[in-house]
Amino acid sequence: MLRGRFSRPALRLALAGAFSAGIACQAPSAHAWGNDGHRIINRLAVSALPADAPAFLRSQAAVNEIEYLGPEPDRWRSPAEPELSAAQAPEHFIDFELADKLGPLPHKRFDFLAEVYAAGERPETIGLQPWQTDEVWERLKSAMRDYRELKAAGKDTQPVEQAIVFYAGWLGHYVGDGSQPLHTTVQYNGWTGPNPHGYTTSHRIHYEFETEFVSANIHAADVEADMAPPKAIPGDMFDAYVAYLRRTATHVEEVYQLDKEGGFEGAGTAASRAFTAARLAAGASMLRDMIYAAWLDSAQPVPDRYAGK
Ligand SMILES: [Zn+2]
Ligand SMILES: [Zn+2]
Repeated sequence: MLRGRFSRPALRLALAGAFSAGIACQAPSAHAWGNDGHRIINRLAVSALPADAPAFLRSQAAVNEIEYLGPEPDRWRSPAEPELSAAQAPEHFIDFELADKLGPLPHKRFDFLAEVYAAGERPETIGLQPWQTDEVWERLKSAMRDYRELKAAGKDTQPVEQAIVFYAGWLGHYVGDGSQPLHTTVQYNGWTGPNPHGYTTSHRIHYEFETEFVSANIHAADVEADMAPPKAIPGDMFDAYVAYLRRTATHVEEVYQLDKEGGFEGAGTAASRAFTAARLAAGASMLRDMIYAAWLDSAQPVPDRYAGK
């Protein structure tokens, strides 16, 4: 996902041009990791779930559906649905440089929004990535808890299985975005401010890296080979997810260095291919671990909402 690359009238013009030329409509704005990267992340993550995750989630039909859903939130960026497009655009990124100026990140979306507005800022500029991801993960966990209850009661679980597959696929989009360094920074599409290393200032780097380069050069097998072994996510999920995003953010300058060496032109370099596969693998590994954590945590008893009252 790329912010503000095309104003809406410009996008409309571009689309009208594409239609009138009678060619297939390719939306000109970039989407995080493009279609191919998001599909790879979702498919690999769900295919690598530990064997004690529910079997329906590892079925071929579920894997195919979850792969299809990888790019789903990017399909919501169409000018045909302007309100949805505007409301969900900030959920694909967070500019830590701006968010951290407001203090420690609160866990709840509306607490953060209150801080943003109080500072005279707008969430569209700073991004809402961690809140959206954590909330979708909690939806997944809630559905898994319902699945356990229905199964224990001997009832039909097929309807809730469909909900779980959807939530897992939807979640995958944001976790995938979260492994793309340019989704964590004000330097999201061309270097801004002091530039002692002479990094590119062109507004092409984001799309070239996450979409064109991935589609032309990165294969699922390269990404799979780089995935970490499954691991438990202890403690609070919001905190664990923010820590993951901050690890991603440590790679921002590397993207610009690789670009400077021609890393995202054509077939790139061995270093740029390895870097990109490793980033996609970090996304797939985290998604696998988050889905599995939702499954384990869904067995926990629900806290009594009236406790201590
Ligand atoms: Zn992007
Ligand atoms: Zn996105």
